[in-house]
Formats: sequence, C-alpha cells, structure tokens
Amino acid sequence: MRATSLAAYFALGLRIAGTYASPAFTFRPYGWQSDRSGGRFAAKTHSHTGLESTDYSPPHLDACGTEISAENLATFEKQFRKQRKAHRAGDEVPNVVIPVNFYIIMANETVGGGYVSDQQIEAQMEVMNAAFSPAGISWQHISTKRVINPLWFHNVGVDQTDAGIQLEMEMKASFSTGDPDVLDVYSTGLGMGNLLGYVRLLPWRYSEDPILAENRAGLDGAIITWLSFPNGPLPQYFLGYNLVHEVGHWAGLAHTFNSVEGPGTCEGPGDYVSDTPVQAYAAHLTLDPAGGVCLAYDTCADQPGIDPINNFMDYAPEPCKTEFTPGQIARMRDVLALYREIET
Ligand SMILES: [Zn+2]
Repeated sequence: MRATSLAAYFALGLRIAGTYASPAFTFRPYGWQSDRSGGRFAAKTHSHTGLESTDYSPPHLDACGTEISAENLATFEKQFRKQRKAHRAGDEVPNVVIPVNFYIIMANETVGGGYVSDQQIEAQMEVMNAAFSPAGISWQHISTKRVINPLWFHNVGVDQTDAGIQLEMEMKASFSTGDPDVLDVYSTGLGMGNLLGYVRLLPWRYSEDPILAENRAGLDGAIITWLSFPNGPLPQYFLGYNLVHEVGHWAGLAHTFNSVEGPGTCEGPGDYVSDTPVQAYAAHLTLDPAGGVCLAYDTCADQPGIDPINNFMDYAPEPCKTEFTPGQIARMRDVLALYREIET
C-alpha cells in the first residue's frame, strides 16, 4: 500500500440508527408475513442455537455498514449506463453459478465465541439460493474454514481506523485469492451483532482504481456477524437475509433508501433502480417492531409507490423481506458481467 490514510482511502461510512429526527407519518397497512415469522418477529428467541437474546447487548445499529456516497454512485452510473448490456427487467436469463467460500472467524470454539456449524452454513446456502433464484443466480458452496483469532473476531469491522482496516485486509488476504467471480463470506463478531455486516467496496471500484484492484484479496467479499445465520438469536434478523442483503451490495445494489440529498428527502435518483419506490428513511426508522407487523410508511407520498419494506435492500425486519425487484435483478446481472467477469 502507498503511504496514505487507509481510513480515508477505503472510507466506509457507518450509518447509525437513531441519529435522524423521528419521522412523523401515518402507517399504511402493507400485509403480514406470517408464513415466515410464525406470526411475530419481536422479542423472539431461538434457544436451540445455544444463544438467547439476553446473552448479548441488543443491537442498536440494526443496519449494515455498506455506504455508497451519492457522488460515487452518480459517477459509476454514467459509466455503467454506457457499458451495461441491454438486460431488461423481466428478460429470460440463463442461470449462473457462483462459488462461495465461508471463513468463520472465532474468539473461541463455542457458539457464543463465533462458532457456526455446518448445518447453519447449509441453511444459509439454502436461503441464498432461494432468494436469488428469481435472478437466475445460484450459489455453490465450495469450502468452509474455521479459524480462532480473537483479535480479528473482536476488532474487524468494529475498528474503522487505519489499524482496524489493515487488520481486516490482513484477515481477508490470508484466505482469499481475490478472484472477482468468487464470493468470499467472512463471519465474525462485528460488535456482537451491533453491526450486521458490510461490503467494503462496491464492485465497480476495482475497475476504476488499480490500487484497489491490486489489493482485491484484502478488500473484496462480504462480512457478516455470526449471529445473523438462519435461526440465529437476533430478534429481527434470524432468517439469513442479512447475507442476502450484503451480497446484493456485492453484486452492485445500493440501499432502496439511498438518495442524493440524504435521509429524509425524496429528491435525487435514489438507488438508480426504477421499480423500487423512492423512500426517505430506512424501514427500521419507520417501522414499529414492537407491533410485530410489517406496516410500510409512504415517506415520499408525492412519488409513486409506498416504501419498499419487502425489499432485501431495505432495513426492514427480515420477516417483512421477500424480494429483489426485476429492475434490481437486471442491474445485478449487468454488474456481475461488467465488473465480476461472470457471464450473465
Ligand atoms: Zn446494506
């Protein structure tokens, strides 16, 4: 690496819930996903994992850390529009198979110390394959490696200083070959689930900067908290959709509430996907989890559609999530072809 601030160079904004003014909107019924949650998603515990919700501080971040600046997204969009294939929403698409490696980082070999079982990984693979099936994307589990490293477990993702980023890069580079067409998943502590997950850099960044491309093995891949595997103990994130969300970023999607003017506004191009309604706030700021129902606000009432709380790229509790839209699917496939050498 050249002598520069890693934190500045690989800047990753961490958006923390609760820092915005509470929006005041009226609820609009959106529908109830009782088939997935068993009727409620609030205060759920899963004792069969060996972890109870009371074993750790409840997450207050409730969010992923993948932030894309409006400026970066706008620059990318110009280039992307020129180059992207003419995939159209709803086109018949050939199936693609993408290899997946899991790296399980543990403080110790206990469930509370980061251990993830083969059964949990297989359950996660099933969730991934079901979620991406409408996109014609299959995931093939290639390998699992488990490593005890308390320093990585406790610090990666939590420490966003230069030293922390260096540590993350060392961790990733010790496993990854840096192949763009292989998904590397790192499971680690992330502040005991305070941070759900993130991808450090969106795929197009590697093609625009040779230094990033050189360091791809240390930068690429998806990081998730080990608590977010299917049937985990997190009250709202126990269906395995956290990895689905992060891999949406890995494939080039922004948050549905992404907007040029920042949270609370309805102006700007948002996520550059035409069939995800404009949304002023992430769902976890507007939903009422205590109510245990998926009620969407219409935070941009003068624009079409209500908030897409059923979308994998919003922050709704997982029982509310069901889909990627056709526009997101077309975008992912074009990003995979252009920036990940995956023939779609
Ligand atoms: Zn995200």
